[in-house]
Order: sequence, then C-alpha cells, then structure tokens
Amino acid sequence: MTPDEFRENGKKMIDWIADYYEQIEKYPVLSQVQPGDISCQLPEQAPEQGESMSDIMADVDRIIMPGITHWQSPNFFAYFQSNSSFPSILGDLLSSGLGVQGMLWATSPACTELETRVMDWLVDLMGLPEHFKSTDSGGGVIQDTASSAALAALLAARERKTNYRSHQTGDTAGLVAYISTQTHSSLEKGVKIMGLGTDRLRKIAVDPRFAMDPLELEKQIVQDLAAGMKPFFVCATIGTTSSNAVDPVRRIGEICQKYDLWLHVDAAMAGSAALLPDYRHYFDGLELADSYAFNPHKWLFTNFDCDCFWVADKAALIKTLSILPEYLKNEATEQGAVIDYRDWHIQLGRRFRSLKLWFVLRHFGAEGLRHHIRQHLELTGEFVAMVQSSDDFELLNQPPFNLVCFRHKAGNTFNKQLMDTINRTGRLFFTHTVLNEQFWLRMSIGQTQTELRHLKDAWQLITQQAKTLPLPPEN
Ligand code: PLP
Repeated sequence: MTPDEFRENGKKMIDWIADYYEQIEKYPVLSQVQPGDISCQLPEQAPEQGESMSDIMADVDRIIMPGITHWQSPNFFAYFQSNSSFPSILGDLLSSGLGVQGMLWATSPACTELETRVMDWLVDLMGLPEHFKSTDSGGGVIQDTASSAALAALLAARERKTNYRSHQTGDTAGLVAYISTQTHSSLEKGVKIMGLGTDRLRKIAVDPRFAMDPLELEKQIVQDLAAGMKPFFVCATIGTTSSNAVDPVRRIGEICQKYDLWLHVDAAMAGSAALLPDYRHYFDGLELADSYAFNPHKWLFTNFDCDCFWVADKAALIKTLSILPEYLKNEATEQGAVIDYRDWHIQLGRRFRSLKLWFVLRHFGAEGLRHHIRQHLELTGEFVAMVQSSDDFELLNQPPFNLVCFRHKAGNTFNKQLMDTINRTGRLFFTHTVLNEQFWLRMSIGQTQTELRHLKDAWQLITQQAKTLPLPPEN
C-alpha cells in the first residue's frame, strides 16, 4: 500500500468508525451468533494473493460485524465497561502509525518521558500519595492490564520478603499471600503463575458489605506466622468486581506495616472516582500501599489496553524485574540517567500507550473528565431510584460508585431467566453475580454515550419482561 492509498483508505476507515458510532444503537448489543457462525465463513487457508481493502472491508461488514458485541453501545451495562472516546482512538491510531517500541528510553525517548509525565499528572489529579511520583521514591508505569500489574506487585513483594534472593534460588518456602473472597480472580491467577500453589493463598472472609474483614486478616496472619509460614502480600480492593465493595485500606495497611507485608491496592474500575475530591474518602489509607493500580481502559474513556500502576518504592520493582543483556546495553541506561520501562513489567516490548491517555487528558481536561464521571454517578443514582420505586425488585446496597446490584424478589431462577430473555433481545446487555448464594443482576453504568434515556428504556424493558415471565411455584 502506498502512502496515497493509505491516505485514501485511512479516510474511509475514519468515516467507517464515525458512522459506526452514529449508528451503534441500531445493532443488537450482545452478538446474536452461535459458536462457529463466524469461523465457518472464513477460508481454511490464508489468501495466496493480496486482496483489495474494499473486499476486506466488505467482509468486515458481512462476516465480522454480526459477531461483535458492542461494548461501546450506550446500552452496554455488562461486566465492567471498557469505555472509549474519539481522542483516545486517535491517540491509539497515532501510536500504531508511529509503530515505536518503547522498551528502553533510548528506543524512543518520548515514549518513556511522556508516560512518566502523564503518570505524575494523574497522581496530582487523583489526590494519590505524593511518593508515587517519579520525582519521589516511587513512580508509575502503564501496564496492559490490572492482571499484569498484580503479577508485578506479587513478584516484587516476593523478592522484598526474601531479600531479593528468591529469583536466584527459586526458594519460595513458606510464602503466603492474602486476598478476600471477593478479590478479582487475576490475583489467584498471579499466585498460580508465580508458582506458589493456591494452598499458599488465603481467601479472607468479608463483612456483610462484602469488604475484607481486617480482624480475620490479622487472625490468619498470626496463625500462619505461628505455623512458621512467611506472610508476604495482601491485596485490598477499592470497588470489587461483584458488588463494588470497598476494603478498609487503612486498617489493612496498618496490619501490613505491623507484619511487614506488601500491600497492593486494586481499584481497576473504581479508581477513576478519585478524580472527584468528594469520593476520595473511599481511597483513605492509600499512602500505606506499596503498589496501586487502576484502569483508564475501564472508566476513563481510554481504549483498551491501559492500566496505570504505581509503586511506592521503584527500586523494589526494578530490582525484581531488571535484566540487562548485552544487546540492550546503551549509554543512557548505563549512566542511570533515564527510566527503562522494560524493568517495570513482565514483557520486554511495549507500545506507546501513554499517547492515547495524553490525548484523553488534554482533550477533556481534568474538568471535563470530572464532569463525565460525576454524570455517570448521577445516572447510577437515577437507576437506584427506579429500582427503589418498584415493590417487585430489591437493591443489594446503596452503590458506592457506578455499579447497581439488584434483583427481582422472585428468586434465582427467575432472575437468570429475566436476564437471559432481555439480553437475547439485543436491546441492552447486562450480567450477573452470585453473592451469598443469591443471583444478583448487575448494571455497570459508565459508557461514554450513556444518557438518562438509556437507563429509563432499560428499566422499562426489565420491568415489562418481569411481568411477562411466569413466576416460579414458590411465589
Ligand atoms: N481487578 C478488578 C477489581 C476487576 O474488576 C478486574 C476486571 O474487571 C480486574 C482486576 C482485571 O482487569 P484486567 O482485565 O485489566 O486485567
């Protein structure tokens, strides 16, 4: 493809994407295809001859689009959203266009220096602890996902606990990590990947609000110490996946300090709320954390993938992950004058992710971002009021952030049927969780284009469908 052909096709692609967003509400939110429906339309072999962009795009429309679940639809309320915005898409496009690989400062200085600056900006914008800044003992890095950030935290915690010997000897004897029964599964996966075995992972009980019980945590640590184990890591969550519960970070942090454990705080989705000063009390105690992660690719209008990860002591992370083979040696690294982000995460190569985040921060401005986040929180309040207005439905709690957990009073089977029936209509997409053996419907409200009318339509559909479904015999 020549630059002129790229120009022409690129313009068409931008038009295609703009049209898509204009028409997004016409698509069924949840893809309606069955397993194999897409692959059976794709040739068994890759094409021998090159094909035209117009043929390729025709197949996007014909084959690919029916198999898309429309995450950017304003009627998408499932899981946690992964919202996007036009400035972010443009930043991502520019990153692809430049095609740089920012593994070292030297391989593209702007890739490193912009990332450092953007991460320092966020510390101020979100009222995070000052020592997370690159100019202090800590620093921030953009990772692909919160899962990778948690793994990096686990590894640094292991190394710190073993005086940075575990990576040499492979000795992990007695190490024990602590999460709650509500912590995201990525932590359990991280423990598996680091080779500890899930018998070294303690799932601490939660209180009636589904937040980790610090008394239970301390009891378990004391018991493990008495048994000769080596407690080394705790993950606290601000905004758990099932119900958005907030673990008591300060109390957990104090326990971590008392027994010398690494505290990682996961605020993958709810982290964006820290933009609003009146929501900062949920983040109380964060200065006791050794590491902290939140995902702009969830609720900060930044395309997947983009996870912001900070550490209080960058030396601990770098000592854990640094390896310098001959072929990567360069003057800037050897002088120690620069950050080489390859030492801050698992993989070597890295995309220029800070570009899209920089575009978002500059396009919206802090004021614009605060406005949109607050609007989502207000919409959440509106939806809560709708649920409360019905005698047939109940709320799990007053949601701290933008996730509403609610259920029809007719029981688990009925709620599952209700959700499946509605999702099959394609008019909206929402998902569920199970808490205390009860099936709860979840509405995660944070799509970039979601307005009050979408929530009113959703509620009307939910209540209408509930009236048409047969009630189970126990009712
Ligand atoms: N932590 C929490 C609280 C989450 O809800 C999720 C995903 O929804 C994750 C971590 C994992 O996020 P990622 O997909 O960025 O690894």
